[in-house]
Amino acid sequence: MMEDIQPLKSWKVIREVPFAIAGPCSAETEEQLFETCRGIKEQDITMLRAGIWKPRTRPGMFEGVGEIGLQWFKNVKDELNMPITTEVATAKHVELALKYDVDVLWIGARSTVNPFTVQEIADALRGVEIPVMIKNPINPDLALWKGGIERIYQAGIRQIAAIHRGFSSFEKTKYRNVPMWQLAIALKSELPNIPMICDPSHISGNRELLLPVSQKAIDLNYDGLMIETHCNPDAAWSDKEQQVTPVRLGEILHTIKIRKASSDNQEFNSMLEHMRGQIDRVDREIIEILAARKTLVDKLGEYKKENNVTVFQADRWLQIFKSRADWGQQMNLDKEFVGKIFKLIHDESISIQTKIMNAETETIG
Ligand code: PEP
Ligand code: MN
Repeated sequence: MMEDIQPLKSWKVIREVPFAIAGPCSAETEEQLFETCRGIKEQDITMLRAGIWKPRTRPGMFEGVGEIGLQWFKNVKDELNMPITTEVATAKHVELALKYDVDVLWIGARSTVNPFTVQEIADALRGVEIPVMIKNPINPDLALWKGGIERIYQAGIRQIAAIHRGFSSFEKTKYRNVPMWQLAIALKSELPNIPMICDPSHISGNRELLLPVSQKAIDLNYDGLMIETHCNPDAAWSDKEQQVTPVRLGEILHTIKIRKASSDNQEFNSMLEHMRGQIDRVDREIIEILAARKTLVDKLGEYKKENNVTVFQADRWLQIFKSRADWGQQMNLDKEFVGKIFKLIHDESISIQTKIMNAETETIG
């Protein structure tokens, strides 16, 4: 699917992968933009981000400086030679951003949720060559994220990246937006060549989580990070809790351990192959043990049927659930993980026994 999406390395604004985009949540003043940009340039960052049209939860909050910010972008670019990306949410935004030579556009989480909005942006981009990054929608809906990407692709854009910024949840968690990494992984497995960028700032909502979230993204082989950075974070006009100074950004990026997807080292590769072989054998044993369990379950089903006893007995299930979780814990396995596995195994056992119970007894003769 969408095999001709171009790798990040081919985007002329990207120097190396993984790469970082940094800059303020919002452009506030020309001075703030210049100062922040100078700071991130010192940290070797190669692309500036800043919002000038800000989707805010309630009216009356700072909604971005608007078009004047595009002139500041131009001035920053001329003086500091830094490519710039900003969020667009309407056809008018696209038109203005193109007029002022913004290098890369992004579609925000609140726009990705709305196919009308994404289509309007896509139509405004038809025939234009500019990289577009699509943030995940606020709600954990993979189809909506993929649909947004497809709309931009169908408009003829081939330099497309996905930005993972986490998902809003009703429950209170330590994150501002829960990462649900499995959704980004699922997108990547459906669209293997889409570059994936993590936005740890909007996932975290605070400065403390930025490092572990960034490290996790790099461990999962993401292609880049977009981190909100401000010359004076505590005085930021939006998202101040999660913004860091350029110096702190540099520390975070230096602390992250970059791991490669593969290695040229012969010794490493043969060890990896050996370890994977061991895992394959253990997996095979797991399957054989499940098959042995199924044979027992078949017998049990027949026996219950002969004696006219119900398939499901709640007290037995509770006992299974508790004892397995305890056994797991004794062996250093996560209790919740063992619970989930045995819920699946037990469900399967109930369904096998139900089939046996309802099958016509074969008559001979
Ligand atoms: C932003 O990047 O500042 C922003 C508004 O992000 P999101 O769309 O992820 O909320
Ligand atoms: Mn923000």
